[in-house]
Amino acid sequence: MRKKIVAGNWKMHKNAAQTEELLNELIAKIPAETDAQVIVAPTFVNLASAVNQLKSTAIGVSAQNMHQAESGAYTGEISADMLTSVGVKTVILGHSERRAIFHETDALIASKVDTALQHDMTVIFCFGEELKDRQSQNHFNIVENQLKDGLFHLQAKDWEKIVLAYEPVWAIGTGETASPEQAQEMHEFIRETVRKAFGSDVAEDVSILYGGSVKPDNAKEIFSKPDVDGGLIGGAALKAEDFVAIVTAI
Ligand code: PEP
Repeated sequence: MRKKIVAGNWKMHKNAAQTEELLNELIAKIPAETDAQVIVAPTFVNLASAVNQLKSTAIGVSAQNMHQAESGAYTGEISADMLTSVGVKTVILGHSERRAIFHETDALIASKVDTALQHDMTVIFCFGEELKDRQSQNHFNIVENQLKDGLFHLQAKDWEKIVLAYEPVWAIGTGETASPEQAQEMHEFIRETVRKAFGSDVAEDVSILYGGSVKPDNAKEIFSKPDVDGGLIGGAALKAEDFVAIVTAI
């Protein structure tokens, strides 16, 4: 079933004490009656303690990345088994910063998706066009190709574990946000693309989050669009007050 989701990507922010403090604030401030699934993605070293701290709450914990191999000589990397062994059942894959700074390709991301699914993890799959693609009117093609190359090798049943996060790169961390109409237009296109390949049940059930400078003052309008099922939040996830306001907006 399609879910409303608000996920906070903390990136390389918050040490152990700051993580504990922010989580305590979220525990105290997120209204119990919210119908959104709330997820936080602290850094690797704070995942185990976050899972522990949140264990009697409805707030989920996600990793921000993982390696595609089961184990091996990959210095500095983290496997799916390591994540699930500390209770992390969700992972963000394909974030634009991973694609741009760490040169992750669609093929690599597809293999990470496969590994995550083999471990019964939920994948928040990020994709979205760059500014030059939108300026050259190529944004629909780029988005369709990222989607196809990353996910279209899956079976229909695998989609129960997939959450899509459309994040136009030009809107990430820039203060620029897609207008609610631009977000809806692309989300509708994404759902239609999924429908053509996997059928209506998969397309109607998959949650499509919008990410890119979502803030308390624009969240409500973006979330009001019929194909926007929530948000992946970067900067505004680092302040309890802002993140809670965004959760409440849904
Ligand atoms: C992100 O990095 O996923 C993101 C959406 O960041 P921000 O909200 O800061 O634009």
